[in-house]
Order: sequence, then C-alpha cells, then structure tokens
Amino acid sequence: MKCEICDDIGWVCENHLDRPWDGPRACTCGGAGAPCPACNSPAEGETPRMPHGFKVEVDKDGWRH
Ligand SMILES: [Zn+2]
Ligand SMILES: [Zn+2]
Repeated sequence: MKCEICDDIGWVCENHLDRPWDGPRACTCGGAGAPCPACNSPAEGETPRMPHGFKVEVDKDGWRH
C-alpha cells in the first residue's frame, strides 16, 4: 500500500498538504513538514511517525523546535 499524497514518507509539505515533504517528489518550496493527513495523523497525545533521519524531539510538553 502506498500513500499517494506523501509517497509513504508520512510527512507532507506544511504549505502544500498534497505534496511529499521528502523523497523524489518532495516539495521544493522549502516549507516545514507536517504529518500526512491521509496516513500519519496521530490520535491526540500520540506522536506522528517520523520520516527517516528526521530529528525533532517531542516530549510531554509538545513540539520543540
Ligand atoms: Zn501519506
Ligand atoms: Zn511546498
């Protein structure tokens, strides 16, 4: 099964939610990443799955940039 929106990366461009954030079809606008609304929308209190090599620390206080 392959997600048509994010190419199974699990993340999309924050500015273009229908384009993958990484990979061969990655959006080139330089926007931040956002979890794919189709395949990677975590339940409340859960952490979205991270793309390979992506380094963001999430702790109980929420997102940390
Ligand atoms: Zn997806
Ligand atoms: Zn974009």
